[in-house]
Amino acid sequence: MTANTVHPPSEFTCATADLPGEIVITDPDIVAGYCRDESRLTEAGTAVAVLAPRTTEEVSACLRACHAASIPVSTRGAGSGLSGGSNATDGGVVLSLHRMNTILDIDPVERLAVAQPGVITGDLRAAVAEQGLLYPPDPGSVAMCSIGGNVATNAGGMCCVKYGVTADFVEALEVVLADGRVMRTGTSTVKGVAGYDITGLFVGSEGTLGVVTEVTVRLVPAPAPALTLAASFADLTSAGTAVAAIAAAGLPCSAVEILDHTTLRAVDEVAKMGLGDAAAMLLVQADSEDADAILAKVEALCAAAGAEVGRADDVEESTMLMEARRLALPALERLGDWLLDDVCVPRAKVVDLISTIEGIAVEVGLTIGVFGHAGDGNLHPTIIFDRSDAGSLAAAHTAFDKITSAALELGGTITGEHGVGRLKAGWLARELDPVNADMQRALRKLFDPQEILNRGVAL
Ligand SMILES: Cc1cc2nc3c(=O)[nH]c(=O)nc-3n(C[C@H](O)[C@H](O)[C@H](O)COP(=O)(O)OP(=O)(O)OC[C@H]3O[C@@H](n4cnc5c(N)ncnc54)[C@H](O)[C@@H]3O)c2cc1C
Repeated sequence: MTANTVHPPSEFTCATADLPGEIVITDPDIVAGYCRDESRLTEAGTAVAVLAPRTTEEVSACLRACHAASIPVSTRGAGSGLSGGSNATDGGVVLSLHRMNTILDIDPVERLAVAQPGVITGDLRAAVAEQGLLYPPDPGSVAMCSIGGNVATNAGGMCCVKYGVTADFVEALEVVLADGRVMRTGTSTVKGVAGYDITGLFVGSEGTLGVVTEVTVRLVPAPAPALTLAASFADLTSAGTAVAAIAAAGLPCSAVEILDHTTLRAVDEVAKMGLGDAAAMLLVQADSEDADAILAKVEALCAAAGAEVGRADDVEESTMLMEARRLALPALERLGDWLLDDVCVPRAKVVDLISTIEGIAVEVGLTIGVFGHAGDGNLHPTIIFDRSDAGSLAAAHTAFDKITSAALELGGTITGEHGVGRLKAGWLARELDPVNADMQRALRKLFDPQEILNRGVAL
C-alpha cells in the first residue's frame, strides 16, 4: 500500500461528521477506559469512539446520527455498574453522560431536585442536605455512581429498607429516544395520573428504551443523624433468624446490613477497626426521633437469636461502621478474582438463602463472602476464585448459577438492584412468565426498533 492511499471514510466517520468535534473521542487508549463497567466476567466489545455530549441537543444529535447508520450505542453514566450494562458493543459507540453533571434546581417548597444525568449521587445528596433535605437512595457506590445510572438501574442501597428504592423518588424525566426524539415524562406535582406511567417504565430499563438526560427526584426532610447497633453472631443462620425477626416486628430501621466472617475479616484488613471475629455481623440503624427505642427492640431480637450486641457511641462511630460496610466489595477484591451476585429473596427466606450459600461454598470448594442489604432480603454473595485456574473459574460459574437458581426457588428474584445487564441476560427469561417476556420484548422494539441501544443487555 502506498503512502498516499486514500482510505474510504468509515461508516462511523460519515455518520458522525456533523457532530461537534469536541464531543467525539476516538483515541483508542481513552476509548478503552470507557468500554466496561465494574462487573466481572461480563462480555465487553471494543467501541470505535466515545461520544461525550454536553447538552440534551447534543445527545439527540448523537442518537440521530447513530440511528441513521444503525451504529450500536452503549449508554454510560459513571461506569460503576456491576452487571455489564454499559459495556461496549464491538464497532459501536459509548455514549457517556459524564459531562452533563449540573444540579439544575433544588426546590425546598415542593421538595424536588432537578439534575442532569451525570451528577454524582453523593454530590446530589450533599447539595440537598445543605437545605435540610434528604434524597434517600444511597447505593454503596454513592460517591462514584451517577443519578442517571441510578434511574436506569433503579438502584437501591442501605436506606431502602425504610425509604424505598430509586423508583420511589423519581417524579419526572427528560429522555432522548433511539431515533433522537426528545420526550418528557411525569409531572412535578404531588399527584398526576395523566396517561401511562412512562416515567416508571424508564426507571430500571437499563438504557434499553432511551437515554435519560434530566431527572426530577422527590426529597424528604432530613432525618436526625442515625444511631447504629452492631450485633455479632456465632453463625450466619442465627443472623438470618434475627433479620427475619426484625422484619416480622415491622420496626422502621433505616438500614439492616449484614457482613459475614469473610467480609468482616477482609474489611478489617483494610480499615483496621477491630470488627472482631464473629461469623456474621448485622449493622442496624434507626434515624427517627424514637431511634433509641427502635434499637432497644432490635437489640432484644438479636440477643434472642444469640448475638452479642453493642451500640455506636456517637455519630462518628456510627458513620465509621457504615463506611466499613461500604468497603465490603473493595475489601473482598483483595482476596482474589471475584464474581458478585445480587439476588433478593422474601425477608423470611434470608436464613434459607444464607444456609444454601454456605452449602454451595462447601460443594464447589470456594470461599463465598456474603454481605448486603439483609433487611430487604437482598444479598451480594461474592465468590472468590482464581481466573488463571480453569477449574476454579468453572467452579465460580457453577456457584453463581446455583445461587441464582436458589433465589428463584425461594420465591426471589435474580437481581435486587444491580440489574440484568449482560451478566444475567440469559437468566431473565427464567424469571419472567412467557407472556411478560413477550411484552417486554415488544416494548423494547417499540422504543428502539433497530435495537441500537445497549445491545445484549437484558432481554
Ligand atoms: C462498590 C460498589 C457498590 C455498589 N453498591 C450498590 C448498591 O448498594 N446498590 C445498587 O443499586 N447498586 C450498587 N452498585 C452498582 C452501581 O453503582 C449501580 O448500578 C449504579 O446505579 C450505576 O450507576 P452508574 O452511573 O455508574 O451507571 P453505569 O454503570 O454507567 O450504567 C448502569 C446502567 O445504566 C445505564 N445508564 C447509565 N446512565 C444512563 C442514562 N443517563 N440514561 C439511560 N441509561 C443509562 C447503562 O446503560 C447501564 O445499563 C455498586 C457498585 C459498586 C462498584
